[in-house]
Amino acid sequence: MSSQLILVLNCGSSSLKGAVLDNGSGEVILSCLAEKLNLPDAYITFKANGEKHKVELTQQPDHTGAVGALMEELKTRNLADRVAAVGHRVVSGGETYSDSILINEDVIAGIEKCIPLAPLHNPANLLGIRAVQTIFPGLPNVAVFDTAFHQTMPEHAYTYAVPRELYRKYGLRRYGFHGTSYRFVADEAARFLGKDKNSLRMVIAHLGNGASIAAIQNGECRDTSMGLTPLEGLVMGTRSGDIDPSVFSFLAQNTGMTITEITDLLNKKSGLLGISELSSDCRTIEEEAAKGHEGAVLALEIFAYRLAKYVAGMAVAAGGIDALVFTGGIGENSDVIRAKVLGYLAFLGFNADAEANQKARFGNAGVITATGNGPVAVVIPTNEELMIAQDTAALSGLA
Ligand code: ADP
Repeated sequence: MSSQLILVLNCGSSSLKGAVLDNGSGEVILSCLAEKLNLPDAYITFKANGEKHKVELTQQPDHTGAVGALMEELKTRNLADRVAAVGHRVVSGGETYSDSILINEDVIAGIEKCIPLAPLHNPANLLGIRAVQTIFPGLPNVAVFDTAFHQTMPEHAYTYAVPRELYRKYGLRRYGFHGTSYRFVADEAARFLGKDKNSLRMVIAHLGNGASIAAIQNGECRDTSMGLTPLEGLVMGTRSGDIDPSVFSFLAQNTGMTITEITDLLNKKSGLLGISELSSDCRTIEEEAAKGHEGAVLALEIFAYRLAKYVAGMAVAAGGIDALVFTGGIGENSDVIRAKVLGYLAFLGFNADAEANQKARFGNAGVITATGNGPVAVVIPTNEELMIAQDTAALSGLA
């Protein structure tokens, strides 16, 4: 008998990313990406067995139209009847959700309540949930929250040093993101190193277009670099990360920019892009830095330096450091960034192995430090879709 399939959805305001995974093997059978949703030229691209094709969403260019097109694609491939449950990436579960949960109307109301904490993302996630309820009626839906894993952070890690009333009234605190990736990578790293995760002090750096870092002790999160929003913390592709909050009044007074414009500048025009004046893409930055482009050289150095400072800080949160784990597009591929970070951290006992560092790329996991008494650094590819699919199967009684 053919095994059951799990559909995993990640909805943005104008996009929808989907993956259909085999519940037995975890293999991705079909993936899709809908773009330009809510514009007349919306389309969806399907990918299976290395082949791609595009379908225009002319009739209904929204999330429901995209899920409808996905259903048609599944029917054409005789896969529709095998889809047994749907997992949704939901960005913010606030303080309400510290685990994934089977979706019912109460959970939908709970996700709505968290909209002030993720005003762009949670509404899009809800559109995806509603679209699936319409197009795949009767299937169990599961919400997997980006924030859930960080709910074990102690109060002293998540509280901002501002009047506490703001926390009580508005929930103003640090929540963190990328939690699903951390949960997956923490387990994988412990398994790869042959260690019990409950006796490992890990610092994991998830470095993609958005980048963050987390301290893990006994398999639980103790601190992370993103805060109320994903803007806090590390230098990212287009985000500034930590910055003096007075930058807002400085720019307002000197340029006349509004709060919205400054927020946009810090989120979309800063980071690697802002420093290099070239690109937000680490590959491009590395290529240009190798040719001597001054902005690219500086962007790489700042990215690595700030990351190294954060690793040392996160070692405080984890009560020490046995393993530094790199993941995400940059973490899994950029031997250049990793070498620089390990260079800065040599004082903590990290002893980089240049050859191993070169080899751990393109999906290959690997220890990138030489054997010795110091802590290890290791590259572990993340797989958020698989984590979401596993939670979905477990909560739907399919595991
Ligand atoms: P997202 O956060 O959107 O999921 P990814 O995890 O895919 O992003 O990471 C994207 C980043 O990874 C980009 O900056 C990209 O340049 C970088 N990256 C991918 N491959 C390489 C590579 N071979 N060398 C350096 N950086 C890479």
